[in-house]
Amino acid sequence: QLSNTYVGRFAPSPTGPLHAGSLVAALASYLDARAHDGVWLVRIEDIDEGRAVPGAAQEILAQLHRLGMDSDREVVWQSRRKHLYQAAFDRLAAHAYPCGCNRREIADSRLGIAPDGAAIYPGTCRAGLAPGRSTRSLRLRVPEQGTDTISFDDRFAGRVSQRLATESGDFVLKRADGYWAYQLAVVVDDAEQGVTDIVRGADLLDSTPRQIYLQRLLGLPTPRYLHVPVVRNADGEKLSKQTGALAVQPGDEAGAIDALLAASRFLGLMLERPDSLAGFWQVAIPAWRLLLAQRNA
Ligand code: GLU
Repeated sequence: QLSNTYVGRFAPSPTGPLHAGSLVAALASYLDARAHDGVWLVRIEDIDEGRAVPGAAQEILAQLHRLGMDSDREVVWQSRRKHLYQAAFDRLAAHAYPCGCNRREIADSRLGIAPDGAAIYPGTCRAGLAPGRSTRSLRLRVPEQGTDTISFDDRFAGRVSQRLATESGDFVLKRADGYWAYQLAVVVDDAEQGVTDIVRGADLLDSTPRQIYLQRLLGLPTPRYLHVPVVRNADGEKLSKQTGALAVQPGDEAGAIDALLAASRFLGLMLERPDSLAGFWQVAIPAWRLLLAQRNA
């Protein structure tokens, strides 16, 4: 009796096993899907094949399984869907241009740093590649200042607005190393999989306006968004996949419950310790519903 009016997903990049931080994103997306009697999908975001760690995707799927979270449909792998990203790019071609700039040149222009840490592109190659330059990446032209504001209502963060021209700049769709950019792949996949609800870490809040802009250019629906806080270490840094892999061994139900309780607590769910994994889900899903009701989310 799963409904197609809610399709959620967890979309890990396989750069390492699940850790305390990525578990929070996985758990939030799973709870939200179950709380809405929706479908929950897992998508392996291995589009950046240079960063993908061999075996990490299988490990993540095994960890999710031990925690009781299994994709309702077949797991999809971005590395096997490049034709979809190419087809979307072809439809965007009128808005895209070849760029010959390297990182150093863009950083040297000192236009500023986008919220996600990338230097804002100064538009050097907008009017065409300078003589003697060759194409490195393919970039999407964002609208001129004044018509470039993208706003959306995040279920947790509230109203979010970003001016693409000054806060993002023209962004890369195909990277210098030949891989499709995350921004394009994620938009194509979410639409192709019928995702209605995106629940993920707040580190991606700043990417959402670019994704919404791409959805509009491609004529795709914009899903609802809920960004959950990001787990940080004692130094205030986002946990990286290399640190603190989740130690949930096969058959270790107590360990699985511990990990889920810790992630739940981080999300604001104060649950009593259940005596089984099934017991955890029985209390966690209604608790999430209650939290949503309290937050009007
Ligand atoms: N693959 C991204 C990550 O692991 C998440 C993408 C998303 O949820 O949109 O950080």
